[in-house]
Amino acid sequence: MDLLQELKERFGYHDFRRGQKEVIESVLNGSDTLAMLPTGTGKSLCFQLPGYLLEGQVIIVSPLLSLMQDQVEQMQVKGEKNVIALNSFLSFPEKKRAIERLHTYKFIFISPEMLSNPDIREAVETLTVSLFVIDEAHCISQWGPDFRPHYLQLGEIRRGLGNPPALALTATATKEVREDIKNVLIFKEPAEIVYSVDRQNIALTVEKVDTHQEKVSRLIDYAASLTGPGVIYFSSRRLAEEMAVLLREKGFENVTHYHGGMEQEERILIQQQFLTNKLRIICATSAFGMGVNKENIRFVIHFHFSSSLEAYLQEIGRAGRDGKESAAIVLFTEQDLSLPLHLMEGELPFDHQIEGFVTLYQSTSSDELASSLQLSESQFRFLDHYVHDHSVSEMNRQIHNIKQLRDERLIYKKEKLISMVKWLHNDSCRRDGILRYFDEKMKNKPEDCCDNCGFDVKDLHTYDTGEEVEEIQEMDWEQRLEKILIG
Ligand code: ADP
Repeated sequence: MDLLQELKERFGYHDFRRGQKEVIESVLNGSDTLAMLPTGTGKSLCFQLPGYLLEGQVIIVSPLLSLMQDQVEQMQVKGEKNVIALNSFLSFPEKKRAIERLHTYKFIFISPEMLSNPDIREAVETLTVSLFVIDEAHCISQWGPDFRPHYLQLGEIRRGLGNPPALALTATATKEVREDIKNVLIFKEPAEIVYSVDRQNIALTVEKVDTHQEKVSRLIDYAASLTGPGVIYFSSRRLAEEMAVLLREKGFENVTHYHGGMEQEERILIQQQFLTNKLRIICATSAFGMGVNKENIRFVIHFHFSSSLEAYLQEIGRAGRDGKESAAIVLFTEQDLSLPLHLMEGELPFDHQIEGFVTLYQSTSSDELASSLQLSESQFRFLDHYVHDHSVSEMNRQIHNIKQLRDERLIYKKEKLISMVKWLHNDSCRRDGILRYFDEKMKNKPEDCCDNCGFDVKDLHTYDTGEEVEEIQEMDWEQRLEKILIG
């Protein structure tokens, strides 16, 4: 079969990107495949093209609702009608109808939590699945920072589907995590296709400052001197908003904020404006980025550093997708450590929440449990999984076990954070440090490597996208959205 011809005809692309063909061939051979390709490579094509060439349906397990929604919309825009996302965005009647018509879809995106639901599982088991895809497969591993307990059931779920070939996709997985992925999914003689996580065109810089105020003033300097579109990451929604306001007050135009607490319509609008060069700088939390395929992002600044090197790599990987020179800059003070620690603890349930959840689990609905115990989505997910899993044991024992699991989880997360902080303090090559963390050796050192290898961000000032940022008239976000949608 001429895969290149298929690529041209079905997608209109002229060539495969690095790794795509190899992964597609492996999948078409029927091999269980673990593919690690850097962010922005085009991992979706690795299941879309085989999906069209194989008889039967493709199930794609995806951890994030927004990512799933985004992928479905992108496929629909390109003309694919037989694609659906099964997730909590669907109303009850929509979900019911989708389940009844499940066999009519070619591509079914689903969250692991929903796939564990007995009714859905029963419906999915009647399908003829040609390929079982696990996107962001590092979520399978408890050694990874984004571990999702529901992912642990995927091996068993796959067995229920008659063991179709599986494709696990990730951009950031250490060797340990990759072993875990293969074990949990019960891979037999897998093909492991691993490409370097290194993004040669992104120069790395870490700048330590003494105070918050100094950091703010460095940020303003960078906003003034760096050209092209950029993203500034914050750990706090409030600060992302405040800094966007401050930058505007300082005279920078086309700057706005983006975080998970905003209305979905508003978020879509901002993504759209950024994509079409109507915005230059986004002050964002980590909610920004997944599924945003903007090629010409020239810089990513971390006002707060990421909680793991995996997350850091994902975030800086949004820069320079066009292959042109770009910069990743971390600004940090020694006081910054307390914030990620605090956030980390808040992602997992506290003692009183564990006790309340276990005690009330049998008698209270999920919604009531979440609101009476003030559980965040991640705290609820953790409790729901483990309480369900351990519900046979006696209550006190169960509380004890879950507290222990929570503590273990916190230790893994802290270890990840420590690796990140050590990397920030390193005085050796930063690129080499990241690669070693992912069990890689550096093969080529780019000319603009990192601050410790003599790179100076000033060298980047001359780079420009050649695209003018358009002026936006003063309108509220609803009017602006209307303008984009209706014209
Ligand atoms: P990621 O690896 O980050 O998941 P995506 O699958 O979202 O990447 O793809 C990133 C972008 O690259 C998309 O806009 C997609 O259409 C584009 N793309 C994928 N494969 C190719 C290709 N072979 N040639 C050109 N563009 C491609």
